[in-house]
Amino acid sequence: MAAQEDSFLYALSSNNAWAGYKAHQNPNFFPKLASGQSPQILWLGCSDSRCPETTILGLQPGDVFVHRNIANIVSPTDINTSAVIEYAVAHLKVKHVVLCGHSACGGAAAALGDGRVGGVLDTWLTPLKAVRLANKEELDGIKDAGARAVRIAELNVEAGVKVLMANVVVQEAVRERGLEVHGCLFDIGSGRIRDLGFGTRAGKGVSVGGEEVVRGRHAQLVFRGGNASMSVR
Ligand SMILES: [Zn+2]
Repeated sequence: MAAQEDSFLYALSSNNAWAGYKAHQNPNFFPKLASGQSPQILWLGCSDSRCPETTILGLQPGDVFVHRNIANIVSPTDINTSAVIEYAVAHLKVKHVVLCGHSACGGAAAALGDGRVGGVLDTWLTPLKAVRLANKEELDGIKDAGARAVRIAELNVEAGVKVLMANVVVQEAVRERGLEVHGCLFDIGSGRIRDLGFGTRAGKGVSVGGEEVVRGRHAQLVFRGGNASMSVR
């Protein structure tokens, strides 16, 4: 209990220091932030504490609209995910939807196991268990547990991108204003994000030629040759 209180108090004092630092660095930062948002990226990711999207992208508050849940599952009947997608795509008019899984995902590990997690978790993970069943032979053939978890995470992103591409709000935006949908995987061990090539660029040869630059306030995200990389301006 004491440790929990301490970490909360530490977080509050850390916030205080951060806000002071940001305001000192750029007195207009918070007033500008308070005037509204126009993020270019919708990020759909895992709730895992090691995958904080704005931090790992090297971006800033105001750059990324976010929905995260356990194992970054995109389910068409989940009103929470659907509302976030609709608001980001139809109202904020983001230019990119990024669905990102990650290595060493606890949800993936649970779906690869044969036991019950308990509570509502088994129900939530059902789509991922279906991915496992559909790819049983391939997954069973991967001896290394870490590599197997990465592979099911990739397959999960592929399945999620298919759901996104079938979403009518997404389809309209792709057709009418060139919205792009990306499927990525974050490797926790290296900090790198890999573009898996699913989505609107599927079949267009993601590893050939051009690059797409998404500029945040203080950094930019570059989609190039099947990889996403970040640089600070
Ligand atoms: Zn996860």
